[in-house]
Amino acid sequence: MTTVRAFAAPSASDPLEPVTIERRDLGPRDVRIDIAYAGVCHSDIHTVRGEWGPQTYPLTVGHEIVGTIAAVGAEVASHAVGDRVGVGCMVNSCRECENCRAGFEQYCLDGFVDTYGAVDRDGTITQGGYSQAVVVDEHFVLRVPEAIPFDRAAPLLCAGITTYSPLAHWRTGPGTRVAVVGFGGLGHMGVKIAAAMGAEVTVLSQSLRKKDDALALGADHYFATSDPDTFRTLRNSFDLILNTVSAPLDVEAYLRLLALDGTMVNVGAPPEPVGVRMFTLFTNRRSFSGSTIGGIRETQEMLDFCAEHGIAPEVEMIAASEINEAYERVLSSDVRYRFVIDIATL
Ligand code: NAP
Ligand code: ZN
Ligand code: ZN
Repeated sequence: MTTVRAFAAPSASDPLEPVTIERRDLGPRDVRIDIAYAGVCHSDIHTVRGEWGPQTYPLTVGHEIVGTIAAVGAEVASHAVGDRVGVGCMVNSCRECENCRAGFEQYCLDGFVDTYGAVDRDGTITQGGYSQAVVVDEHFVLRVPEAIPFDRAAPLLCAGITTYSPLAHWRTGPGTRVAVVGFGGLGHMGVKIAAAMGAEVTVLSQSLRKKDDALALGADHYFATSDPDTFRTLRNSFDLILNTVSAPLDVEAYLRLLALDGTMVNVGAPPEPVGVRMFTLFTNRRSFSGSTIGGIRETQEMLDFCAEHGIAPEVEMIAASEINEAYERVLSSDVRYRFVIDIATL
């Protein structure tokens, strides 16, 4: 075991604080990563605050991880010491079920092992990226292309893949009219990726505050959802609505914006259930769907796509000691557009 410095939540209601955590010895297929940067996802906040269910504390979160490989196990074939790599939301899955074999580890029929807060194969609770180092099976480790600035790469491992996967699945391209709801960590990546795929991109945000940024980052149109005219003007006009909002929405109002055969895909994850009227779906043969992160092969494809298209997240770099303040800014929709912890400050 190796002891490393980390930040952890001591309970669902206390601020995060410095701790030390243990990392396992290297197994034959494990790599040890010295973490350089960790992104701050809204899921970290939902989790530590117990909004998605009870947790075991203290808990170190963080599933947008980039760093350098410090050591490899005897049988590791796909990575070497010194490589620039990333780890996202999964650190294991069964590898045998139909979905795993098809490359959809995120839909493992046994449930994938989350990077934090999950029971690992050795019975311990996984601890995430707000820490100096992590030990991960090589299969769940991604290559970070040189073309992506390292200090901006971490958010791709969750915000990047979570938006890329549904955009790719619903064949976003020239001629596709995409609306991105919520312009935060996921939303701003959804805009950049959809624009790079050639779509006509509209941002639906609570206010006009972020309009200039959204247009500069690739959106073609921008509307405030606080203006009731928005929902009249945009009726029947999108092929795909990507909902990235962390709170419950009036889903019906958004479904009515879908054109014939349009889909509303939800990646935002408030814990509350939502209600949908069948008749809203009958109109225009609309679909209501969900999507979670992406498989390992697709995550590598997303990283390579971002390198090729010059895409990187917009980040605000923070010291580890600023994490609690950063959480408050995320909760007030004031992040521009992803906080990243400089792990050297731990
Ligand atoms: P974020 O940076 O906080 O962005 C969420 C955005 O939603 C905000 O910036 C805000 O955008 C909008 N919003 C927040 N509260 C709202 C409200 N009450 N009404 C309307 N809009 C509101 O969060 P994130 O890290 O992008 O994550 C977004 C959600 O996706 C979270 O629930 C997270 O857990 C989930 N998530 C899911 C997956 C998955 O695999 N499915 C992966 C990662 C994250 P505007 O200011 O533009 O209105
Ligand atoms: Zn996340
Ligand atoms: Zn599986």
